Amino acid sequence: MAVDHASRLQYLEAMGIQVWESRQPSPASAATASVTVDNDHHQDLWHTLQQQVAGCHACALAETRTQTVFGVGNQQADWLLIGEAPGQNEDLQGEPFVGKAGQLLNEMLRAIGLSRQQVYIANMLKCRPPNNRDPLVAEVTACNAFLQQQIALIRPKIILAVGRIAAQNLLNTQQPLSRLRGIQHQLQGTPLVIVHHPAYLLRSLTEKAKAWEDLQFALHVYQSVTD
Ligand code: SF4
Repeated sequence: MAVDHASRLQYLEAMGIQVWESRQPSPASAATASVTVDNDHHQDLWHTLQQQVAGCHACALAETRTQTVFGVGNQQADWLLIGEAPGQNEDLQGEPFVGKAGQLLNEMLRAIGLSRQQVYIANMLKCRPPNNRDPLVAEVTACNAFLQQQIALIRPKIILAVGRIAAQNLLNTQQPLSRLRGIQHQLQGTPLVIVHHPAYLLRSLTEKAKAWEDLQFALHVYQSVTD
């Protein structure tokens, strides 16, 4: 379902958040700590994380960005969408998946009965690579802790990796998209499904059909974990 408890605590601790818990927590004490974190500090944690991202200079992309692109949406969403990195429009507006790609993503979501406001949308990288080049391994590594913290805070029931670059990096594989689609993967204990990038919806009918298959499969996985 969501990020396992140990990982979650690890991410929260990495943010400098004190979680009151013995070193060998009982299930009851773990649950208490979790509820406390959820109810009392959720907004504080988001705010802290947003500030950390906004001021981050951990990789060279900080030098060329207009602004960081943190993420947008429902902070307690069941669905978390993760793309590759901000593009030009995103860098200018400070929001992921805006412009044409954003409209198409909204259409994809609508196709499975979801609105943009219901889900959370983020990218692996919070800063735009110059000329939209592929992210470097060092950049993904430098930015990964932020994404992991977002996952730990949202605790989604399903993660959609949007496009090949996001899929390969999140799953740490070089396999082609064709081998990764249609399979229920896991990321930190959360089901992960790969969907085509919305740009595919602009192309051939075959690719539209594939994008639709991806979404149907994602919906199937979501229903199977929430039933
Ligand atoms: S891409 Fe991530 S690690 Fe690099 S500067 Fe931006 S926020 Fe920091």
